[in-house]
Amino acid sequence: MDSVAIIAALIAEGPLCMLCIIEKSGLTPEAASAAVRTIERVLKVHREPGFCQGCRLSRFVLYSDRPFPSRSPAHHRPPQ
Ligand SMILES: [Zn+2]
Repeated sequence: MDSVAIIAALIAEGPLCMLCIIEKSGLTPEAASAAVRTIERVLKVHREPGFCQGCRLSRFVLYSDRPFPSRSPAHHRPPQ
């Protein structure tokens, strides 16, 4: 899976802070930021203060309204 697909899948599942996105994806901060910018060309990516699903802290979080179009719905896990 490429970096864009990994990040798109992460933020489609729920609000995550950039630190958790980087940790969960295993990408460098630069690669993660570049992937977010790519996703923003296709999807509306919200960036706002919120509750991170990864570290459970109140932080600036990123999330999208729906999964990345290239991702099969069969692979989409429902939110907890
Ligand atoms: Zn977090």
